[in-house]
Amino acid sequence: MTLPQVKTSEPQGETLLALLLELVNLNHVNLVNQYHQTLRQTLFTNHTRVHPSSLKNLAAAEVDALLDFLREAKPGTEHGIHLCQVGLSKETVLQLNQVTRRFFLACLDNDQILPALDLIETYLNEIIQGFIQQLNTIILDEQEQIRSALQVAVSRYVVEIKEVQSLAEQATEANKFKSQFIARISHELRTPLGAVLGMAEMLQENIYGPLNSQQQDITQRIINNAHVLKQVFTELLDQSQIESGKLKLRNESFSPRQIVEDIYSNYLPIALQKGLTVQLEMNPNLPSVAQGDPVRVQQVISNLVMNAIKYTETGGAVIHSQRASSTEWSVQVKDTGIGISDKNQAYIFDSFHQVDESGGWKFGGVGLGLAIVHNLVTAMGGHVTVESKIGKGSTFTVFFPLHATQMEDDS
Ligand code: ADP
Repeated sequence: MTLPQVKTSEPQGETLLALLLELVNLNHVNLVNQYHQTLRQTLFTNHTRVHPSSLKNLAAAEVDALLDFLREAKPGTEHGIHLCQVGLSKETVLQLNQVTRRFFLACLDNDQILPALDLIETYLNEIIQGFIQQLNTIILDEQEQIRSALQVAVSRYVVEIKEVQSLAEQATEANKFKSQFIARISHELRTPLGAVLGMAEMLQENIYGPLNSQQQDITQRIINNAHVLKQVFTELLDQSQIESGKLKLRNESFSPRQIVEDIYSNYLPIALQKGLTVQLEMNPNLPSVAQGDPVRVQQVISNLVMNAIKYTETGGAVIHSQRASSTEWSVQVKDTGIGISDKNQAYIFDSFHQVDESGGWKFGGVGLGLAIVHNLVTAMGGHVTVESKIGKGSTFTVFFPLHATQMEDDS
């Protein structure tokens, strides 16, 4: 028997036709089951995206009816058409659904297998086309749902972006205003403060006549406090200039050794007064010349030495300077002070961030020193690191860049 031409391009369709062909020829019960399985697979497994409710029930009823129908056939008959003739009453056939019925009626009435197979092919095509159509509808529906969900999300996202942008603009504006305000106020306060300091120093120098010991003591306290205030205003001014991008760094040659030695001699008396020691270690490999802004370099190292003295109660500090690499020189300030916990080490370089490892906030300050150190060193192209243990002490190391021209001169 020649196989009828299969119009569907679905491989499952071809398999089914081949199976049915064998089925009607051999009438083997295993083939009936195989048909059953393959058809179910075609209908369900390969179309898992199709919503099962309506299609599944419809197809299941179709397949089960066909299976029951074929199972009623007596085994051993030679021809598929005999299955219908021998095994089933016309009533049973009529109860089957429309397409199946058409198939079996064709078998009964015409005793022709080829028209029957044509019907099966049509049947399969109808089912497959139906599935494809339903699948397309579902896909289109899903696409439409996804499209509108995306549209909603995108418009919400656009609105949120605009809000964030406007908040960011407001914050930038507020920050700019804050920096300008701090810069103006610091400047305005530094001028009268300079006058107070100058007058107190004139009193101390006995320009307006000799002072008794109590007057000398009070004058000294005025001078000390004025210096503290001046330092605070200077830090505020520096930070606001850094934040507003107005800070200009000089680029000139200087001697790292000279700067470190000056700082050592400035802070040694302060440390001694507190009962602390300060050691200076200058590595012979320290370059004699570097390039950059010597005033700001001095400010960075001074802040670290000042903090080492401020946060140390017993022992002291060691200042060590050396060439750190072919492109950098470094200053390490190591103290035996109160130390900083690992957690707090992450914050100490933030503006206005103070930590209280001592308990009781007894050290004062405004929390700008290390922020300025960090910002200045970063602006210079260097970096700063910290290692510390609570109760044991801290080591701050700052790395300054050496410029290539200097390195060549120097080496
Ligand atoms: P300030 O000293 O004005 O509080 P800084 O920015 O200089 O501000 O320092 C930030 C914080 O880092 C300080 O509040 C202090 O807790 C901690 N700190 C800085 N240097 C040291 C140090 N050498 N030893 C222990 N703690 C330190």
